[in-house]
Amino acid sequence: MATSTLTGGCLCNKITYQIENATPKIAICHCNTCKRHTGSGFSTNMIVPKPFFKYTSGTPKIFLDTSGDSGQEVPKHFCGDCGTALNVQPNDKPIIVVRAGTINERDELDLAMEIFHQRKDKFVDQIGQVPALPGMP
Ligand SMILES: [Zn+2]
Ligand SMILES: [Zn+2]
Repeated sequence: MATSTLTGGCLCNKITYQIENATPKIAICHCNTCKRHTGSGFSTNMIVPKPFFKYTSGTPKIFLDTSGDSGQEVPKHFCGDCGTALNVQPNDKPIIVVRAGTINERDELDLAMEIFHQRKDKFVDQIGQVPALPGMP
């Protein structure tokens, strides 16, 4: 599969990053931890081998989250200025879970799978069944 270099950053743009050799596939996660971390109905994630990811400006804050099913400490990186959830960096895996909404080249991303599907909220299934407006009403 073709890979590419992707870039991204937080809402206030103090923190930016680059991903080399990216495979532009994403997974939607419906777990409760992701909902809290992202403030959304589900998270969108791109799995990246750690050596391919680097911050290009700024320094994230790190929350050592222990709320997951495993009880393990899972570092979650976010911008301390604007609060954007940037990525999750599990200690026991050689990967970084990049929150896909922070990637600049989102047109390149394809959906590969959904995980923790049993936790999917009812309103997510209602997407496509409600009035869809081009902006705020
Ligand atoms: Zn920021
Ligand atoms: Zn999750």
